[in-house]
Amino acid sequence: MALPCERESIRGDPRYCQPNRQLPVAEEGSEAYHPGLPGESANMLIVMEKGASEEQIRAVMDRILALGLRPHPIPGAERTAIGITGNHGPLDPAEFEILPGVQQAIRVTKPYKLVSREVKTADSVIRVGGRPVGGPRLTIIAGPCAVESEAQTLAIAHKVREAGADLLRGGAFKPRTSPYSFQGLGLAGLRILARAREETGLPIVSEAVDEESLAMVEEHADAVQIGARNMQNFSLLKRAGKSKIPVFLKRGMSATLDEFLMAAEYVVSEGNYQVFLCERGVRTFADHTRNTLDLAIVPAVKHLSHLPILVDPSHGTGRRDKVAPLARAAIAAGADGVMIEVHNDPARALSDGPQAILPEEFASLVHDLRALAGLLGRTHD
Ligand code: PEP
Ligand code: MN
Repeated sequence: MALPCERESIRGDPRYCQPNRQLPVAEEGSEAYHPGLPGESANMLIVMEKGASEEQIRAVMDRILALGLRPHPIPGAERTAIGITGNHGPLDPAEFEILPGVQQAIRVTKPYKLVSREVKTADSVIRVGGRPVGGPRLTIIAGPCAVESEAQTLAIAHKVREAGADLLRGGAFKPRTSPYSFQGLGLAGLRILARAREETGLPIVSEAVDEESLAMVEEHADAVQIGARNMQNFSLLKRAGKSKIPVFLKRGMSATLDEFLMAAEYVVSEGNYQVFLCERGVRTFADHTRNTLDLAIVPAVKHLSHLPILVDPSHGTGRRDKVAPLARAAIAAGADGVMIEVHNDPARALSDGPQAILPEEFASLVHDLRALAGLLGRTHD
């Protein structure tokens, strides 16, 4: 079934369709625009009847807009649902249930709404540069922690592509603990990544650390990473919610499950539904690894949310020898993929050398992950 915004009569209507978005966004400044507070909003889901017409769907969306609220059409295999955000008080289901084509108006009980399985039961599949993230196929993201030079990035990009990576990672803007550490090549780094995509065909995932870098990342990359240190940078999350490219949201190092999903809700509530999550380890008293990789969050997220979740065992352990075992464990725990830092000369890496694995080690890991995928009813080829 076509997404509501792909339907003939709705396509091209700026209130419902914006490039690369599945969700409608009222123009900022217009009467209908109402940013709302995710914690208090979206407390209703309108489920349309199976055979509801485009006109009926449009009429419901118009009604929601007329109330100063925001409609979010949600793709479904059989029927269309429409989430509502922007309200600060309870909504009356009867208000919507009387409209033609509406089967039911349901109150959403979770604090996060649009990312919740209450609102959308089927797993979401996000497209990054045309490649699926989520669904049965595993996604393997690989590349250096930071873009250091053209030669380094191109060499690693070719190696990880040959080994079977789906997406290339590399930081051009690096959020470093010390102001004296390498901060990334900035725009020049993004240009190198674009060159690597040209040569290898691998879509690019790269981090933005503020609104200025986000504008540059969305120009050059295929998905923008919001890192652990920015998971609760709400203005950055809102800006990412207005982006036309998917958002790869990493868990903050002290974030609870609810805080993680609420951060994703910030992005989605602004109209960008293309969000995929990443567990990257949290701070504990354990000191045998850089962070403690919390694999239990994978089934917990899967239970509560339809968004894909990947695991990053590189930052999650900080130690090269522990990356492959934890990557295998992540897939066994049900993750939709992994993100792995790979370097061709880890001893000389400008950041995160101790956790980078060599291209040959990465190739052998991909081999193992493919074998596991087969056992678990997933694919990767
Ligand atoms: C990274 O992926 O390079 C990174 C900085 O990750 P995190 O935000 O998880 O520390
Ligand atoms: Mn890193």
